[in-house]
Amino acid sequence: MENTIQPVPFIQGLFEYLQASPTAFHAVRSSAEILSLNGFQRLEESDDWGELAPGSYYLQRNNSSLIAFHLSVPPRASRGLRMAGAHTDSPCLKVKPQPVQLNHGAIQIGVEVYGGALLNPWFDRDLSLAGRVSWHREGGPLQCSLLDFQRPVAVIPSLAIHLDREANEKRSINKQTDLTPVAMLAPDGAAIDFSELLKEQLLQEHPGTEGAIILDHDLFFYDHQPPSRVGLNQELISGARLDNLLSCYALIRAAVDPPAQQDLLIVLNDHEETGSVSSSGAQGPFLRSVLERLYPEPEQRLRVLAQSLFISADNAHAVHPNFPQKYEANHLPQLNRGVVLKKNANQRYATDSLSGGLFKLLCSKAEVPVQEFVMRNDMACGSTIGPLTAAAIGVATVDVGIPSLAMHSIRETAGSLDGWYLYRALATFFQEKPECLTCREDQP
Ligand SMILES: [Zn+2]
Repeated sequence: MENTIQPVPFIQGLFEYLQASPTAFHAVRSSAEILSLNGFQRLEESDDWGELAPGSYYLQRNNSSLIAFHLSVPPRASRGLRMAGAHTDSPCLKVKPQPVQLNHGAIQIGVEVYGGALLNPWFDRDLSLAGRVSWHREGGPLQCSLLDFQRPVAVIPSLAIHLDREANEKRSINKQTDLTPVAMLAPDGAAIDFSELLKEQLLQEHPGTEGAIILDHDLFFYDHQPPSRVGLNQELISGARLDNLLSCYALIRAAVDPPAQQDLLIVLNDHEETGSVSSSGAQGPFLRSVLERLYPEPEQRLRVLAQSLFISADNAHAVHPNFPQKYEANHLPQLNRGVVLKKNANQRYATDSLSGGLFKLLCSKAEVPVQEFVMRNDMACGSTIGPLTAAAIGVATVDVGIPSLAMHSIRETAGSLDGWYLYRALATFFQEKPECLTCREDQP
């Protein structure tokens, strides 16, 4: 396919995106910047959209979810929408409302575990802090700003092996007592005012916010180490939040390089890692409400959805060479061998033979290899926004993702080619003529 970006620039762009996106809020901001640079106009949910002229648009909800779409000339009901989605959040440690603890000369920041984090890798890392704060000035309106300290500000030290001789055999983690990051020392025995600290950071990042009174915060610790290419031939990439910012980046890039030709819609949802139940999550009404505004007539909307396909992109498990027994022996996705089609008989993934068949056709047009994954019967299967979206709006859905290792660790590993493969498949999806992608039942 012409006009698509090549693997190396894709990885460079991905690394910049990951670095600029330590939280879901920042991922939405990074995505919005790429969309704006490529001619997408911002809409506000609170505005009257009227009859939208043909063109490209995007909107945000809660600063942490985003929908972008491109619509060509009316009448629109005669065509399906190319839809694709991913999630902006990743498992991590979230700062508690009143976080400061003074323990034995150390000032620590209390955290809650967000999502299904793999906790062992969080120890002995250079942690930075980012997120959103709400604030006001005396008598003034509520405002909100994103913060990113962009430097190591805390660490969770391991307990030395001399004090826990069974650590290598039996180490378990108490989330309340073992995980509290150390942020600074208190030689004078005094604690700190966390709001003052945030106020100083706000002023540093957003000049002109003098006099701000911090009201509340959504702050998350993240690994300060940048993503990198790894391997003797640089076949691997390693970094935080590959699940699922790699998919978010592939989706956004596919919508702008090359510019959209078909009617398309991208949804990036927050809160997938905690079950998707929120105003901006996939079990909330965000996507449905946008579709209702784009296609106000119910019959028109149903006709469009009946001709549409939703690609849910979320990372898959590549076979781990040290633990092959944890995988289904006939379904062992490998790194750099292409996009993974995910299936589950109990609808934990939404793929079926129609949507799966369409995705395979699409990948063959894009010259992208496809692998297949199914979980072992004696292990629980994960899920994605795919089945939730399919159930919420009634659209044919396929669950796909790039193969990866160490999912939900603070640092995950993937192949250097698979993200680009996903991007190529999605770019082809957004360009192909309608007849190539119509999913019709009972046709000879
Ligand atoms: Zn995910």
